[in-house]
Amino acid sequence: MRPKSSSLTCQKPRKNSKTDQSSPGWRSGQDGTSVETDGLKEKLDANFDSDFWAEISESCLGCGVCTFLCPTCFCFDIVDEVQRSERVRNWDTCMFRIYSLEASGHNPRPSRKERTRQRLSHKYSYWLDHVGEIGCTGCGRCVRYCPVGLDIRAMLRAANALEMEPANA
Ligand code: SF4
Ligand code: SF4
Repeated sequence: MRPKSSSLTCQKPRKNSKTDQSSPGWRSGQDGTSVETDGLKEKLDANFDSDFWAEISESCLGCGVCTFLCPTCFCFDIVDEVQRSERVRNWDTCMFRIYSLEASGHNPRPSRKERTRQRLSHKYSYWLDHVGEIGCTGCGRCVRYCPVGLDIRAMLRAANALEMEPANA
């Protein structure tokens, strides 16, 4: 975890020629490894309903690799193994559609847009509310292993550049 007021520096991602070729701004291969985190939470909160989330999540496959490798992700599911009379806890991820699917059929995060928003906002906004730290160590694993080269640093830099839209506008 990092202190509230700082910049985040990630390890340099592995070069991925497939994804670097046609990379829009939030894909790996862009310059710079650090992200300014001062004021980032306010930008994320203020742009909760922005089209920005759909834009940055367009190429996400929803595979969950970024979260299963992340040292600060802890989503889990509880399953009753009836045959073994055991209740077990399994790793899960907010990047899966079914993770937030409710028994009624309603899903508060029905698309990649909402799931990507949850992933980034949880780490860079909600963690600050709950524990006063951001939920990212800067390890760079999510950048290195995303199969389509999505780069959280670039997404956060894009968020930093957003206007301050009023929340719930
Ligand atoms: S860089 Fe941050 S978000 Fe990505 S895997 Fe590491 S701790 Fe998780
Ligand atoms: S690793 Fe990449 S493609 Fe897979 S869920 Fe994470 S951001 Fe989406």
